[in-house]
Amino acid sequence: MSESIYSGPVFEMARQQFNGVADHLQILEEDRARLLYPKRAIAVSCPIHRDDGRTEVFQGYRVQHHLTLGPTKGGTRFAPSVDVGEVAALAVWMSWKCALAGLPYGGAKGGITVDPYTLSPRELEALSRRYMQEMIPFVGPHTDVMAPDMGTNEQVMAWFMDTYSMYQGQTINEIVTGKPVSAGGTLGRREATGRGVAHLVGRALDHLGISAGSATAIVQGFGNVGSVTAYSLAGRGVKIIGVSDHTAAYHDPAGLDVADLQRHVAKRGQLAGFSTQSAIEPSELLLRKCDVLVPAAMEQVITWQNATELKCRILAEGANGPTTPGADAILDQRRDELFVLPDILCNAGGVIVSYFEWVQDLQRLFWEEAEVFDRLYRIQERSFQQVIARAKRDGISHRMAAMAIGVSVVQSAKHTRGLFP
Ligand code: GLU
Repeated sequence: MSESIYSGPVFEMARQQFNGVADHLQILEEDRARLLYPKRAIAVSCPIHRDDGRTEVFQGYRVQHHLTLGPTKGGTRFAPSVDVGEVAALAVWMSWKCALAGLPYGGAKGGITVDPYTLSPRELEALSRRYMQEMIPFVGPHTDVMAPDMGTNEQVMAWFMDTYSMYQGQTINEIVTGKPVSAGGTLGRREATGRGVAHLVGRALDHLGISAGSATAIVQGFGNVGSVTAYSLAGRGVKIIGVSDHTAAYHDPAGLDVADLQRHVAKRGQLAGFSTQSAIEPSELLLRKCDVLVPAAMEQVITWQNATELKCRILAEGANGPTTPGADAILDQRRDELFVLPDILCNAGGVIVSYFEWVQDLQRLFWEEAEVFDRLYRIQERSFQQVIARAKRDGISHRMAAMAIGVSVVQSAKHTRGLFP
């Protein structure tokens, strides 16, 4: 395929990664475009009334990557960076992530180009509802199931579910996941991504023979994923020596109190103002020495410029796409000293527990929290073992192994089914 609407640095990154895996798997040229390019992309204009009386139109997108294994699944991002290329890349990654975990989904992603922190609560509700209303013809519990991502949360998912349900004339919980428990959500979804990251870090520490009680960690990003990861790692005895968000970065070799940080963020909405003593330059945080480095914020923060300077033993990717292919080439050479938990393995706890939420909603049968985490950890264990074994067998990086497993699942389903999906 020579021309497409998908462009920009993030899609380019997903494309490069895919081509690397396709070369490794020796996927025929004629199959590549079918595997990489999204099945559908929807763009909508979402007008809302601002509080000052003006009408403003926001652009929204939803990209459904492939329909071969079941409905598509993925988060909805409210951020100024959102464009169709970024959303498409994130949808592609969701496909490999779901396939690696063995979930019966294709990948999707959506978003609105907006800084949600500039909206009042009423404006945020109006925009969330309008976005779902515009998407009604294109989504459904067996077509495409949304979830939270950067800039959205449980309340936004409740508005999505309510808007969809009102148009259908009945409550349809299974249209989105990541809802509050009071609106048909599952126990454990809010913490699932962060607890899943911490669980895999625990497995990686075991694998390397490092005890959690002697390990240190730095977490970039203090939203739902970063803060729960930091909290869960601290609960396992790991000393959190650095954290950051888009407003501040703190580093203290003696350890930071994660519960205190969470209380501060709950009150102020951001890390800034927490401390003056331990504040450092945010760009420096990633380069400080630690056992576990968790990028849990944005894409493309680990690049060829800083990859040689990372001083961690484990890189646990809580964010989607934090490491560029240029950085990967360097990390590949540092394979013996740096253990990578690639994003589609490391942060899959979110979508795995979303799958449990969807299943519970469809069955109208709700599980206890212990069952949710027991099942989550079992799926994670299987993926972890598969990735390590594949990397060892083929002499490839963990990322290449994880993607090779995910891409192969989709490829073989496409071969079995034929050309349509
Ligand atoms: N947005 C999350 C992710 O990137 C969760 C998606 C979901 O739960 O469907 O994995």
